[in-house]
Amino acid sequence: MQNSLKLNIDNIDESLYKTYDTFNQIEEKNLIKVLKAFKKNKVSTNHFIESTGYGYDDSGRDIIDKIYANIFHTEDALVRPHFISGTHALTICLQALLRPGDDLLSITGMPYDTLAETIGIIEKKGSLKEYNISFNKVDLIHNNKLTTSEYYNDFDYEKILQSINSNTKLILIQRSKGYTNRHSFLPQELEEVINIIKKKNKNIYIMVDNCYGEFTNIYEPSDFGADVCVGSLIKNLGGGICKSGAYIVGKKEIIEQCSYRLTSPSLGKEVGCNFNQNINILQGLSFAPQMVSNAIKGATLISKLFEEKKYKVFPLSNEKRGDIVSIIELKNEDNLKLFCKIIQENSFIDSFVSPESWDMPGYNSKVIMASGSFIQGSSLELSCDAPIKEPFYVFVQGGLSYYQTKEVCKTLNEYF
Ligand SMILES: *Cc1c(COP(=O)(O)O)cnc(C)c1O
Repeated sequence: MQNSLKLNIDNIDESLYKTYDTFNQIEEKNLIKVLKAFKKNKVSTNHFIESTGYGYDDSGRDIIDKIYANIFHTEDALVRPHFISGTHALTICLQALLRPGDDLLSITGMPYDTLAETIGIIEKKGSLKEYNISFNKVDLIHNNKLTTSEYYNDFDYEKILQSINSNTKLILIQRSKGYTNRHSFLPQELEEVINIIKKKNKNIYIMVDNCYGEFTNIYEPSDFGADVCVGSLIKNLGGGICKSGAYIVGKKEIIEQCSYRLTSPSLGKEVGCNFNQNINILQGLSFAPQMVSNAIKGATLISKLFEEKKYKVFPLSNEKRGDIVSIIELKNEDNLKLFCKIIQENSFIDSFVSPESWDMPGYNSKVIMASGSFIQGSSLELSCDAPIKEPFYVFVQGGLSYYQTKEVCKTLNEYF
């Protein structure tokens, strides 16, 4: 144990009431958005019926797509339990839209780690690179015009325009920070860059990796011109109860191509039995506004606690959030282990196990994580992970109940 500064968690909690109020307002707007979409599409218990085999005439599957399209204000959607993760859906989308000779351009620097093999940044059979699809990236630049934080980043507009060539077919924007200490974008912060790109070439697809961002604000990237958004159902929009799956929302022609990749050009989105997941997908979506709100409040409380204890945190507790993730710079390996141990001890599942660091595929350092979740790997549930390397960042996500996170904060307060 170290020289810890003891604080009163109830007082810290109380000091955040105004901030929570803004999250409550976002929750309310999103709940109304979801409710309206359910009403418009006349959802009934018939839509929960399990389909088998080809899943022809699965009315629930079709309704779910329509509801997602309504919420994102897109022409169509592909929401399926058959996507095994967010990475799978992102991969399908890239493979669906890119052809040999095309160039993929990421304008938020290196894409999320699990896409490295998909793209061919790390050589792998089946990568886009093997199909002669090239990859380029433009890093974000430092800019603190909108925030007090030292980690605020903005698009490098000049370089983006220089990097677009006649082969550029798709531009990838990752909203959330991933395993970096950068700013996570609010949907409205994407508008300018999307407009600039569209002005140069309106035929370029703008694809947004929306993981962790859904319902953290009242808008989604599709409200500001993104052609297609992709995310996981074991994160925000699954509401903590989806067993698996992911979504792709966007222009009709894009969704059609994605469906041909997920199934087959001869089948598209008209087939696929639901494995009895329709009820989870629908109910999870109805829970999502409040679950995301809980997760954000919890993440904010943790940020505030460590801010008060003079650790570097990002985002600051009073900054706008583009995702549900909080970063704390914990200074050394022992602190990372202790932090993960405390999260694990206060989890609903596997509270009795101790997290150990291990070599994870695709990472250049050992990683330690805590996750005592009902759904394996669900990071809308309280969880954290930390690559064991300087400057010893821990990435904390979720908490379906704010009070669970508050309970964790009481123990963190004792030890840090
Ligand atoms: C979680 C996440 C993904 C996809 O991860 P899966 O674990 O495959 O669902 C992709 N991008 C970002 C930014 C993410 O946070």
